[in-house]
Amino acid sequence: MSETFAFPGDKIASIEEYETGYNTFDDGDVVHAAAVGEIDLNKETRVASVKHQKMISIPKIGDVIIGTVAAVMSSMIAVSIDYINGKPTTSKVECVCSTRNLRKKNVALVNDIVTLKILNHLNGTIHAAIEEPHLGVLFTKCRKCGGKVVQMRDAIKCTDCAWIDERKLSTNYGNSDFVKLRE
Ligand SMILES: [Zn+2]
Repeated sequence: MSETFAFPGDKIASIEEYETGYNTFDDGDVVHAAAVGEIDLNKETRVASVKHQKMISIPKIGDVIIGTVAAVMSSMIAVSIDYINGKPTTSKVECVCSTRNLRKKNVALVNDIVTLKILNHLNGTIHAAIEEPHLGVLFTKCRKCGGKVVQMRDAIKCTDCAWIDERKLSTNYGNSDFVKLRE
């Protein structure tokens, strides 16, 4: 048992020697820590894990997450993950999602609630997709006044100031029960 402390992104083993366990991911070459904790390289099962008190859950490829938009950049958004496959997570892992191919001015705003599908883990960053119909914004507000908005086809309209705007809406938009959504 070799045990040391790891920080997210740290290389902890080669995938030729170990499989990914809890709180780890691989980049096709190396197993990385995905959380702060003690490295646990199990020589019997050949599984590399990071022991974390809260057992941070890292979404896997294909998982559907619900999160809060933390930042909006010109061609991507960063999302703090709140739910993985409908299960709440307190680990506040972030993923990024490219919005380059969406012909929309405002795909999502900071603090919008969005649902995304995990695409891959690259260089310690979790990448997600928003293109599929059920993916996209679940909750948003008016960009001008912060008022409540209603859906009008692909657009949204503010019930307070009548501002019309665009989002990449999920087909589940307006479903306040989104917490229970499952793939
Ligand atoms: Zn408004």
